[in-house]
Amino acid sequence: MNDTTSPLDTDTRDALQNAVLTRFKLLAAQQPGPLDARAALRMAAEACRDELATRWANTQKADAVRGKLAPCRRVHYLSMEFLMGRALGNALAALGIEPLLRSIMAEQGIEWTDVLEGESDAALGNGGLGRLAACFLDAFAELELPSFGYGLRYRFGMFKQATPDGVQVETADDWLRDGGLWDIERTAIEYSIGFGGRVESTRTSGRLETDRSSGRQWVPAERVRARAFDFIVPAHHGARVSTLRQWQALPAQAVDFQAVVRGDYAAAAKPEWQAESLNWVLYPDDSHGAGRELRLRQEAFLVSASLQDLLQRHLAEFGTLDSLGRHNAIHLNDTHPALAPAELMRLLVDDHGMKWDDAWRITREAVSYTNHTLMPEALETWPVALMESLLPRHLEIIYDINYRFLADVRARFPDDEELAKRVSLIDESGVRHVRMAALAVVASHRVNGVAALHSQLMVDTIFADYARLFPERFHNVTNGVTPRRWLQQANPGLSTLLDARIGKDWRRNLDGLKALRAQADDPALGQSLGLIKFANKARLAERILCETGIRVDSRSLFDVQVKRIHEYKRQLLNLLHVVARYQAMLADPAGPDGKGWQARTVIIAGKAASAYHTAKQIIRLAHDIGRVINADERLQGRLKLVFLPNYGVSLAEAIIPAADLSEQISTAGTEASGTGNMKFALNGALTIGTWDGATIEMAEAIGESDVFVFGHRADGIEKLRDLGYLPLWIAQQNPALHAVLDAIGRGVFSPGEPTRYKALIDDLIGRDRYFLLADFADYVAAQQRVDALYAQPARWQAAVARNIAGMGGFSADRTIREYVTRVWSADSLASGTPHA
Ligand SMILES: *Cc1c(COP(=O)(O)O)cnc(C)c1O
Repeated sequence: MNDTTSPLDTDTRDALQNAVLTRFKLLAAQQPGPLDARAALRMAAEACRDELATRWANTQKADAVRGKLAPCRRVHYLSMEFLMGRALGNALAALGIEPLLRSIMAEQGIEWTDVLEGESDAALGNGGLGRLAACFLDAFAELELPSFGYGLRYRFGMFKQATPDGVQVETADDWLRDGGLWDIERTAIEYSIGFGGRVESTRTSGRLETDRSSGRQWVPAERVRARAFDFIVPAHHGARVSTLRQWQALPAQAVDFQAVVRGDYAAAAKPEWQAESLNWVLYPDDSHGAGRELRLRQEAFLVSASLQDLLQRHLAEFGTLDSLGRHNAIHLNDTHPALAPAELMRLLVDDHGMKWDDAWRITREAVSYTNHTLMPEALETWPVALMESLLPRHLEIIYDINYRFLADVRARFPDDEELAKRVSLIDESGVRHVRMAALAVVASHRVNGVAALHSQLMVDTIFADYARLFPERFHNVTNGVTPRRWLQQANPGLSTLLDARIGKDWRRNLDGLKALRAQADDPALGQSLGLIKFANKARLAERILCETGIRVDSRSLFDVQVKRIHEYKRQLLNLLHVVARYQAMLADPAGPDGKGWQARTVIIAGKAASAYHTAKQIIRLAHDIGRVINADERLQGRLKLVFLPNYGVSLAEAIIPAADLSEQISTAGTEASGTGNMKFALNGALTIGTWDGATIEMAEAIGESDVFVFGHRADGIEKLRDLGYLPLWIAQQNPALHAVLDAIGRGVFSPGEPTRYKALIDDLIGRDRYFLLADFADYVAAQQRVDALYAQPARWQAAVARNIAGMGGFSADRTIREYVTRVWSADSLASGTPHA
């Protein structure tokens, strides 16, 4: 497969293969004993890394020239999260040398899958937002976009999840244990980052003491160094690469040497501890309290190191900062890097002596921002007092930005002081806080949501005031996923079938999938799709048995919900259906139409934020229900519920190609986009889902009749909320629902502790913030439609084919092309009117 998809001519590939082979032999010769899979992994990575490093240097040279000639801006994608997963399989496929490596391993008697699966996931993210950033790096390389991704080099991934007795236990994800396999340490690329201290005035008696025009200079109390580690992402259809530059904090000086001289070794070692704690962990986005200050330090550290890097590169290429905004885009992946405008202003004004207005114009030209959530509690704010102590100059600059911005607002709307209060960068309603989303919006020339509905709700709700002030700023760019990882790599069987049916071009031009639609009713295609799915399911069934001890039937319908565990994603609604089905199967073994029940395996996976009690209860309930159902022989194996621990990219690659049914059941209006929904449909799962996020656009592209849509739409949910929603009333009206809630609440699934889920159920009946009960009946009805269609394999497979055919628009390549034209191109600057 790879020899035909790689664009390299034969000579180049021969040279590359020889180089890899030579390198591999050299490394093998340095081994004392026979090779094992772990050593082989390291050698394979090193052999690839050499080639990647060469391509990286060539890419940088080409971009430096291009930067001067074309109006194409270099993109700097700032993100606290990059959920990269494993890299070896992707690198080998991109370089077109997988067959070579396979044969080397075979010669050495090493199992190929052992090598691939020996690699730890780089799990430097929570979920969708981080995985999106990873898919974008792949598209950057593929589309030859001059770019840098910037992140932090976390020592530990989020955490490793285990669920002994159904209770989530978090342990360290020590992914760098064997040393970074792919890291390229750039010892020469270091910047100094300050924290704390005070701001001094550099003016005396009204005259400039220095040539600095701000007259303000930050004197930090502490300093750490930021060192660059590059992770290189190859293109699959060219020799270009993209870069993930991850910052590592190092102490300003390795040890306190004066303390060493005194013999006070404990004191001598302390600076190191402080610096490196910056890189320890990624804080889960819904964690509360603890670690907040460290999180703010991390954000400031990421932003400062990345911008200093950008500035020095721009100066080296152009010799002046005046053109910075015209040649560079700085993109904020959510508000986590939203200190960027303040830091850029500081660097330009304080350190480079630029006038405020010029610096502000450049900042606004460069910065753009993607919003990922509408939930008010998820919008990031920082206490003014904390920012003052940690980043005093940044706070001053934010005040200055706010002063000018509010003056402008008051000039335009002189009689609306409430408006000024609402849009202020500072929330003064209680303890004063800096509103990071407000800063990001005010400092950006473009703000985008991640799916059509989300972008609309964004300007209708949380950003309504800003949309009134700057309507031209707001756009939509619907998310996408990379077909290289999520189809070619994850589903070789389906990839081969597509190659035979529509040619190989879909890897770089996913739109080509639409050619499959005309073949959807071909019985031979249906049969092949069915066989490939069955093989993927059998493989997953083996893994389920291995990891959980639960035996599942590969012929049953695999009904899958995998994503972070969160109340708005409604895994609990899924569980209510499982229990309802269980009770119905016992009450009526003949099934709704007298033909018996369709056998189902319900698979759930996902991590709960460590401080999120309700999410952890949902995980526990899934285990408790599973334990009862899976052991109930009256069901004859026709219903199983499995929770697979430690969800991450690699597990997703194993689960998604094996799914028949994709659960996308968030409360309408809460899921900004979703990208899991796209991966499933691309791999031939049918979707049961609410009219939410990008699922809407998927249903429109696929055809609504081939998606199991159910439940209230966003406006309907809004109406329920306004009318005074009464979940108890719904529970009383629906006997099946009532029985389900009663069983869980009484402890039928937790006989050892009957009250275990009482609070969970009481909350559903009393408040039900995410409208599970309002959508329950329609959800169960939609599940019956799923069963009915699955009972007709030919019709099911035709729908599968049409689903795949409709997914051409959901490639990350399309997404990035839209970012380029709407957000990052030099042209996109022309249409925005700067406000100040
Ligand atoms: C795609 C992906 C997600 C996002 O899933 P959603 O269903 O869109 O929330 C989260 N985690 C991993 C590992 C993924 O691959």
